[in-house]
Amino acid sequence: TQFSDLGLAEPLLRALNEEGYATPTPIQARAIPALLEGRDMLGIAQTGTGKTAAFALPILNRLLNNPARPVPRTVRALIMAPTRELAAQIGESFRAYGRFTRLSVAVIFGGVPHGAQIRALSRGVDILVATPGRLLDHIESGHCRLDHTEVVVLDEADHMLDLGFVVPIRKIVSRLASRRQSLFFSATMPKEIATLAGEMLREPVKVEV
Ligand code: AMP
Repeated sequence: TQFSDLGLAEPLLRALNEEGYATPTPIQARAIPALLEGRDMLGIAQTGTGKTAAFALPILNRLLNNPARPVPRTVRALIMAPTRELAAQIGESFRAYGRFTRLSVAVIFGGVPHGAQIRALSRGVDILVATPGRLLDHIESGHCRLDHTEVVVLDEADHMLDLGFVVPIRKIVSRLASRRQSLFFSATMPKEIATLAGEMLREPVKVEV
């Protein structure tokens, strides 16, 4: 399988070419077609498998193909990650794969002032990568709206559990529209994580690598 066989838009193929990616990794080859169909996904995968591109490329493709909804201060795709380092890394991946699109990417996490994040949110962002605690602050203070979010990703869910993020995640998910595409990734599946996945996903495709 080549990236060009997967049905991705031309600006994304051009970015992959510049990145020097020749062929999709196994998780990419299995996940990308199902995600392009709009399916929910439960991915049992570690970091280093190419998981980020497996979800970033179909999300970019979807946002490119659907005209942006003219609702101010809303987020079109939300990716939740457990740590600022992972959030920053995911944000960089979206910027790299989306460099030939005009889609905007913002990354927000705790431990830094709110002001710049509030200004970014007020401009409206296509793709928001966030850690759960700070994201919930912005939702509760009215600076972030998720009611028009089309896609949500929970990355490293088991790590989220270890860091005590399950309660904020449930609150954030309760703000999302029920009509959405949901992706859930975890390296392991303890009971609480399986329960959370069951709450968030609808008839997910299961991908294990
Ligand atoms: P991830 O599992 O998403 O953290 O990705 C692991 C590393 O593999 C990252 O440095 C990516 O840039 C790289 N990578 C992802 N997909 C591919 C691919 N299809 N070909 C070559 N490298 C890749």
